[in-house]
Amino acid sequence: MSSAPARLTVLAGPTAVGKGTVVTELRRRHPDLFVSVSATTRSPRPGEINGVHYHFVTDEEFDALVAQGQMLEWALVHGAHRYGTPRRPVQDQLDAGRPALLEIDLDGARQVHQTMPEAQLVFLAPPSWEELVARLTGRGTEDAHEQERRLATARMEMDAIDEFDHVIINDTVARATDELEGLLGLKG
Ligand code: 5GP
Repeated sequence: MSSAPARLTVLAGPTAVGKGTVVTELRRRHPDLFVSVSATTRSPRPGEINGVHYHFVTDEEFDALVAQGQMLEWALVHGAHRYGTPRRPVQDQLDAGRPALLEIDLDGARQVHQTMPEAQLVFLAPPSWEELVARLTGRGTEDAHEQERRLATARMEMDAIDEFDHVIINDTVARATDELEGLLGLKG
């Protein structure tokens, strides 16, 4: 048992580094851990469930959430859709003494650092730049132009590594998850 106070942890890192996979493994090990469900204006992909993977909202609904101060942070991601963290569920967890985890983009991580400086910022990094390029191009879901755009974004995201409190290298999912568990005080 950790005696550290409940803390907000933000996990960010470059596109294709494997944040989703690490968070999935963490949830498998700790089904009760609170992981924030973001609101987004993008459409659900096949298999995504409203309220589970995201809260899928319209542009007008997103505008209202922002105007009402209900977003802890929000950002336009990949120049396409808006994503944001609903404030209340996160605050409720922290008030109850439980840790909370956000998996968000760099812009959002910077906003949380400004508004909640006590939050710990964790950067998930690839073992090397070459490995990240291989992961990004290897999944073959984007065309050459889109890959270029994502690589440029990834380079910019990698440059922000020094802004983070902790860096976890995602060499294997099991090991990276072990380290994240430790930072969340979930070990032992
Ligand atoms: P996807 O559309 O693939 O589910 O997510 C695209 C990106 O949006 C990911 O890089 C993810 O980190 C980011 N993202 C998801 N939810 C949030 C959020 O609430 N706030 C911010 N700033 N970024 C988010």
